[in-house]
Amino acid sequence: MNLSERAKFQKFLHKKIKQSFIRTKHCFILGCNNRTIKSHSLSRARVLERISKNGEVMYMSTENLDSKDSFNLFPTGKAKATTFPGFCDEHDKIFEPIDAHPYEVGNLLQEFLFAMRAVAREYTVRKAMQDSLEE
Ligand SMILES: [Zn+2]
Repeated sequence: MNLSERAKFQKFLHKKIKQSFIRTKHCFILGCNNRTIKSHSLSRARVLERISKNGEVMYMSTENLDSKDSFNLFPTGKAKATTFPGFCDEHDKIFEPIDAHPYEVGNLLQEFLFAMRAVAREYTVRKAMQDSLEE
């Protein structure tokens, strides 16, 4: 597969995966049917702000291949970076203890919330990937 064909395939695959995220998105909290928002897997205020430059962070993209590398880094806004459709607005607020406060070693609530957010993100991604592969 030459680079042009590979780039077309990557764009096609990226579009299909994006559609799967749209089809499968829902709040991670059982029984909640509220519309999801773009939840951050990393705290926007505490983490992304620190590593951003001019309001942007770099991310790996499979969408725009212009070399033989598997992944290229592209700039994206802090508001979009590390987001996933895993929580509604109401339930995304439960992460306030880790989004608005520094981590305290041994704080079990914060440690639980970090773990829960990671599980929710992985669950959301895997569900969308399964949907994409089944299609
Ligand atoms: Zn919810």
